[in-house]
Amino acid sequence: MTNSTVDIVNDSLNALMDDKEFLPELKGETRERAFSSLVSILSTPNHVNKSFLRVVLENGKVIRVPSFRVQHNNVLGPYKGGIRFHESVNEDEVVNLAALMTLKNALHEVPFGGGKGGVVINPREFSEKDLYVICKKYVQYFSDILGPDKDIPAPDVGTGAREMDWMMGEYKTIRPGETYRGSFTGKSVENGGSLGRREATGKGVYYTFRYLLYDFVKKQEQWLSERDNIFAKTALSLKDKSLTLAIQGFGNVGSVAALAAYQCNHLNNKIVAVSDRNVTLYNSDGLDIPNLIKFTKGNRGDLPITDEQLEEAEVKAIIKDRNDVLTLDVGVLFLAALENQINSNNMEDVKAQIIVEGANAPVTNDADEYLSDKGIIIVPDILANAGGVIVSYFEWLQGKETQFYSEEVIFEKLYNKMKKTFDTVYPQFFGDPFPLRENCYIHAVMKLSTILYRQGKLY
Ligand code: GLU
Repeated sequence: MTNSTVDIVNDSLNALMDDKEFLPELKGETRERAFSSLVSILSTPNHVNKSFLRVVLENGKVIRVPSFRVQHNNVLGPYKGGIRFHESVNEDEVVNLAALMTLKNALHEVPFGGGKGGVVINPREFSEKDLYVICKKYVQYFSDILGPDKDIPAPDVGTGAREMDWMMGEYKTIRPGETYRGSFTGKSVENGGSLGRREATGKGVYYTFRYLLYDFVKKQEQWLSERDNIFAKTALSLKDKSLTLAIQGFGNVGSVAALAAYQCNHLNNKIVAVSDRNVTLYNSDGLDIPNLIKFTKGNRGDLPITDEQLEEAEVKAIIKDRNDVLTLDVGVLFLAALENQINSNNMEDVKAQIIVEGANAPVTNDADEYLSDKGIIIVPDILANAGGVIVSYFEWLQGKETQFYSEEVIFEKLYNKMKKTFDTVYPQFFGDPFPLRENCYIHAVMKLSTILYRQGKLY
């Protein structure tokens, strides 16, 4: 696990240990022993499974593809988390992402543990047939450890409904006669997926921001103005302004969050920049998000990169470097690409007052500390991007019941679940001056510690 997650988990445990009201039955030496058990349990994954998938490509070439399934912790329920297809995947990264899933599920009271998968490939370099074979092989190699009540994968960077459909199909073939619908989530609706799952993460990211500034801050104005809290000051200074938004990443998370923000006309916020792996597009009058989405659909997911393509998309924008999105003079920055995007090299150039983490771990620890000290509000990944796993949970339940809900019901349930978490963490965050990430970790770690203790795992 990278130091960032371990460090924050340890800080959270230290804070809890000093809190006499937390597990008061643990006293003296027993308390110390229990807390050191907690540190070792939560900072180490239960299992790191690694295989080199042997794949015969369409062109006859045989390759070995390094692949992982990390099972971090399952005290709250079956391991749960996506499978990432990306050339930069490595063991440390998957371990860290699995730990974040444990914390995310605990924070939002989703009855799952944390896991994550990774396959070291650039999916853009493979044909559809080759990707199909890679998906089947992944399930063949890991089928013993997967299952609807053991470990339930889902999409992540580089994967989507198509891959989950293939994987569930293979799981069903390998285990005839067993229940299979809940073995993978994020499947297509035709194949037992949930309505709203594709949009869930992006919508949840936008809800998190909107709730913070317009539902919470607006309603609690009086209370907030009495707090001596740098974050409350930042939030109050923004609440009545029409804000400019920049969004890094225009995939399943970024484009959906962008559309949700674009459609929320009454807030007068403008999306002035979006970016992907090739470019940043900028327009100080606001970008036409629906047209950009239409264009990317016909262009393998990529944003326009030339003036001709912008014209074709009927979008007015200036083309900038892909990293420019991070340091533009905007009010709010949504990070919906990969990890470590804001780090010690660019943190001093960040101008946004609110950063919302749609991706997992997009801000490094040192950048997080630096920006938080300046009063910049960072809405952490485990709070903001849980929409995906929450609707995965609804999908899993629907698969068990073989009863399916409408999209409207799904979004209402999603919003209610996230709102419950916001109402727990936001008042505390604006009450005590310490960053929202630590706050969320404390809640998650508190939940995990209580259950580990009740299950007798701390002796
Ligand atoms: N990959 C998503 C995440 O990082 C979703 C996981 C899931 O649905 O299990 O939260």
